[in-house]
Amino acid sequence: MGSSVPTDFRPRMLINGELVEASDKKTFPLYNPATREKVADVPAVPEATEADTNAAVAAAKAAFPAWSALDPAKRGTYLKKLADLLRQHHDELAHLEASSMGRPVDMYFETFAAAGNYDHYAESWPHIQGQASVNTPGHVTMTLRQPYGVVAAIIPWNVPILFFSNKTAPALIAGNTVVLKSSEKAPLTSARVAELIVEAGFPPGVFNVISGHGLPSGSVLSSHMDVRALSFTGSGRTGRLIQEQAAKSNLKKVILELGGKTPALVFSDANMDKAVEQTTHSIQWNSGQVCMANSRIYVQKSAASAFIEAFKARFAKVKAGNPLEKGIDHGPQADEVQYNSVMAFIEEGKKSGTLALGGKGNLESMNGYFVEPTVFLDTPEDARIMKQEVFGPVVLINTFETEAEAIQKANDTEYGLYAAVYTKDISRAMRVAQALESGYVGVNCTSPATARDLPFGGYKLSGQGREGWLHSLDNFLETKSIIIQLDSDDAAAKL
Ligand code: NAD
Repeated sequence: MGSSVPTDFRPRMLINGELVEASDKKTFPLYNPATREKVADVPAVPEATEADTNAAVAAAKAAFPAWSALDPAKRGTYLKKLADLLRQHHDELAHLEASSMGRPVDMYFETFAAAGNYDHYAESWPHIQGQASVNTPGHVTMTLRQPYGVVAAIIPWNVPILFFSNKTAPALIAGNTVVLKSSEKAPLTSARVAELIVEAGFPPGVFNVISGHGLPSGSVLSSHMDVRALSFTGSGRTGRLIQEQAAKSNLKKVILELGGKTPALVFSDANMDKAVEQTTHSIQWNSGQVCMANSRIYVQKSAASAFIEAFKARFAKVKAGNPLEKGIDHGPQADEVQYNSVMAFIEEGKKSGTLALGGKGNLESMNGYFVEPTVFLDTPEDARIMKQEVFGPVVLINTFETEAEAIQKANDTEYGLYAAVYTKDISRAMRVAQALESGYVGVNCTSPATARDLPFGGYKLSGQGREGWLHSLDNFLETKSIIIQLDSDDAAAKL
């Protein structure tokens, strides 16, 4: 495996098969959130202009006819090559993610997950199928599944290469061409993968990767008349803007994977050791910067004090430090904006609830955006910290007496991405799972437990549409109905 970033690596964009800088040469700097210093081994990142974004869409549009006409098995060979390259470059990509958004290298798995996505979709083309019937007398009917054309993907910074792959792989195998915009907070791995796309030999224009902020490039993609479908993962605020721009332009199809406020319900009959271990991991992993992290935990009153003591003991054990070093499992928040936002929530939380663990930012002592694992108890259900996404290692633990109360509290949110229930009573587990307003429910497990062949997506404000190995192809395929009228025997005889 390639162990270090090539010394000549400089982030560039991939437009029409060429690795390029921004046309006006504009760049933006990146700071390592663990040290607050400029990312040393990588120069600044290109900021795509409106013209660059338009050029990427134009390239994708021009490449579409040939790519969509290609034997899908041949399309799959490019995806497979990219999968191999991702695996080979795991260490290097881990290093780049650690430097730009603080992910500990020891916790980095996305290259393998991304490679799995490209491998899976490379073989998935036989599922691109329509239906046929003779249910309409005198006719044969059929449907065809066909690509949209140019698909845009806009991804966040928290798990970039996972989203990079789970949007582009199904879009490409379905015959679409793609323009992906990386996040301004974590653009390095996407820029390196752009080089690997070139190495994999994709035809020019099929797979374009640009870097930059929401304005201008993200916004240009959302309102572009030639982008026919857009898959977005990120905040609800941006999701709404994208939806608005899609509506005002060409009503492009929009898939939205947005935020969450996952509740974990722990009944007193649950396996407590498991519940403690898993709920701690859920909120701690990636320093709490995970859409489905269980940021609210409701414990049945009779079990609450034992659960809380065990949870605090486990949560306090994290090893914070330089994410590039081995043995570190708790990195900094991704940047100053994230750090300040998490700290503001913590300060508010101290006024509304009872601080039971942590509560401090270690910016001064560690000179990076580190936040201590933090636990609040007895926070009022209507407090802002209960309602909004904190996106940090901060958990709110409250109690309940009855099943009905637990369900009511869990559902009292505009979010509905993931929910968890711990109990040994299977009937209760299924009653609760049915009642939870959530796109995903873990029974005796919590996020990030997911299955690749289950649909992933949110109820309510957490999004629209679903992604997953059996579902994402549908996001990138139109359905065409064809009705064929048959001549009758008499008509045929006259010919
Ligand atoms: P964000 O919305 O700030 O940014 C996401 C992307 O949108 C970035 O690439 C950004 O440049 C782009 N963007 C910003 N403004 C835009 C605009 N006007 N038009 C088009 N694009 C624009 O989100 P973030 O801070 O990067 O990510 C964190 C959020 O993502 C959290 O809310 C988290 O819950 C959510 N998230 C959801 C899932 C999921 O699967 N549901 C997964 C991970 C993260």
